[in-house]
Amino acid sequence: MDKINGIIENKYTAFSDFKNFDGQEVTICGYIHRIREMTGFSFVIIRTSRDTIQCVYAPEFSDYRWDEKLCEEACVEVTGKVVSSKDAKGNDRYEIQIHNVNILSLPAEMLPIVINKKGLDGVQLNTILDLRPISMRNPKERAIFKLQEGIARGFREYLSKNGFTEIRSPKINFAGAEGGTNVFKLDYFGKQVYLAQSPQLYKQALVGVYERVFEIAPVFRAEHHDTSRHLNEYISMDFEMGFINSFTDIMNMETGALKYIMNLLKTEYAEEVALLHADIPEITEIPCIKFMDAKELLMTKFKYKPSDMKDFDPEEEQLLGKYAKKEFNSDFIFVTHYPSKKRPFYTMDDPNDPEYTLSFDLLFRGLEITSGGQRIHDYNMQVEKMVKCGMNPEEFATYLMLHKYGAPPHGGLGLGLERLTMHLLGAKNVREATMFPRDINRVTP
Ligand code: ATP
Ligand code: MG
Repeated sequence: MDKINGIIENKYTAFSDFKNFDGQEVTICGYIHRIREMTGFSFVIIRTSRDTIQCVYAPEFSDYRWDEKLCEEACVEVTGKVVSSKDAKGNDRYEIQIHNVNILSLPAEMLPIVINKKGLDGVQLNTILDLRPISMRNPKERAIFKLQEGIARGFREYLSKNGFTEIRSPKINFAGAEGGTNVFKLDYFGKQVYLAQSPQLYKQALVGVYERVFEIAPVFRAEHHDTSRHLNEYISMDFEMGFINSFTDIMNMETGALKYIMNLLKTEYAEEVALLHADIPEITEIPCIKFMDAKELLMTKFKYKPSDMKDFDPEEEQLLGKYAKKEFNSDFIFVTHYPSKKRPFYTMDDPNDPEYTLSFDLLFRGLEITSGGQRIHDYNMQVEKMVKCGMNPEEFATYLMLHKYGAPPHGGLGLGLERLTMHLLGAKNVREATMFPRDINRVTP
């Protein structure tokens, strides 16, 4: 019997290594992205996992003769000579003079949309979403989610470097985390359970174990409205840290993570950034404004009449985004000290003014991307707050184990991955930045 030893033979050369193979023969694998017949030769663009590589077929390059079965979306191995030249800007470019094409598979049907242009311009968002498995083959579409990978990777790398432990909390829960109307209820062998709307209660429990924890995972919100910024399932990038001196420690950690992420995108995702014209923000410091000062500013400077003095509507968020840009040249602004009434039961009230909380939101280009804050760590204070919020502390006995048996001062946040991606792209709809969106009208594909 054969034995498997974990050594992977790689007979293919990556496009990024072509510079080391100038004039030599290499083999690549991928899809035929496009064929352009010219007189006497053809351009054959091969789409590999991250690149599109120009290959040229001409009879004089070898004895190989073009197989007429070859078509767009055929999976092939192409062998040929790497040839370098300079583009108009003087940069090196590489193409392959084809010596052989080995067919690995042929599609059964033609694609229903054109994916081999730069973007999918003119294709409606709904069609793009209906056809996700193939619309994502388009270079621009797939770049969106490669960039998104970079964001999540940056978050993970930065926190790992800062002493955080990665956790995975359950998504089927007996008690609804924060309650409210947007929790999905589920029948669980005759019992009612809930889909996690956040990892909040679990990450707090784990602060009592690991001190600093983070999770990147889906959360579920039964949003009853159809908006351009709400999904029913989204990826929440959460962290929670213990032994903090102030809730500003959390904001500092987030600022550090965002700087790290933006730098990673600029360096290791430069091709995607360029292809998407993604506007990567420069972050040095992020301005902060207190909630009530922001309300005041909106009413005086912007002559805005708020409909709700306890929260912001989307227009107010946009105005604050403009203000941050104009006054501080910042794409981000922290709003702190939200009213106690609007924050969840675990939020620490400001000891100087208990009507407000030691909490914050982060707005990015006029859109909330994060909510966070300091949590209550004292047992009696937490029980009292629950009662005040109309909750039964007995139902939260597991959660309260943290507080009952000793908890450090702590806090954390949740950052919506799709919303951050959306505003990096300058997209109008969060679905554009969601691989397989779930919303009030869509659960497929
Ligand atoms: P909003 O007020 O914008 O509806 P929220 O305050 O209810 O959001 P939080 O519970 O604070 O949301 O969630 C933390 C973060 O998760 C938000 O700042 C946002 O980035 C993201 N988020 C929340 N709800 C959604 C959703 N339905 N779809 C996509 N992302 C979301
Ligand atoms: Mg929020």
